[in-house]
Amino acid sequence: MARYKDSVCRLCRREGMKLFLKGERCFTDKCAYDRRSYPPGQHGQRRIKFSDYGIQLREKQKVKRLYGVSERQFRNYFEKADRQKGITGANLLVLLERRLDNAVYRLGFATSRQEARQLVGHSHFMVNGRTLNIPSYLVKPNDVIEVKEKSKGMDRIKEAVEGVARRGIPQWLEMEQSKLKGMVKSWPDREELTTPPIQEQLIVELYSK
Ligand code: SF4
Repeated sequence: MARYKDSVCRLCRREGMKLFLKGERCFTDKCAYDRRSYPPGQHGQRRIKFSDYGIQLREKQKVKRLYGVSERQFRNYFEKADRQKGITGANLLVLLERRLDNAVYRLGFATSRQEARQLVGHSHFMVNGRTLNIPSYLVKPNDVIEVKEKSKGMDRIKEAVEGVARRGIPQWLEMEQSKLKGMVKSWPDREELTTPPIQEQLIVELYSK
């Protein structure tokens, strides 16, 4: 799978908003978007008028980059969301939110989704008592996500958990900080996914062409 290797701060600048891809740095005055809130590149400060297609494309790119998934994976999530009952756009966001790497990030065990993906891939977590190293695993209500015993002393995890109060834990998750253990209380709620603002109907329109 092709992986993006350039500065992730460029992605925030391209999408015109903070995507919080770099953990704690995003909350400091070192944030590149706060310092240069215009698109990267030589012509970044020129005014650009987007077509309808351009607006839809930017929205898709934003969500794809936010969750750190590839084009192919994103398309697969869309197709799955489209087959489900309900509103396709909301289904898509709920599917992305249910990824194990996202749940680990939301629970505060990592400062970014990218870090969460790495920690999951290196087998530092158990789901329902069994080691699981698949970042794309979709969590469901009553799943228990916990840091493995041998990984509880890791500085990265301890530091991330210390900053969880600032980032906050969504309603659909619950965290027992002393045990480094989280629980999925319910399905994620679209109404809670407000940062950054997402207009998922634009993605539906893009893929429906
Ligand atoms: Fe970089 Fe984070 Fe700021 Fe985005 S929000 S520009 S990832 S520091």
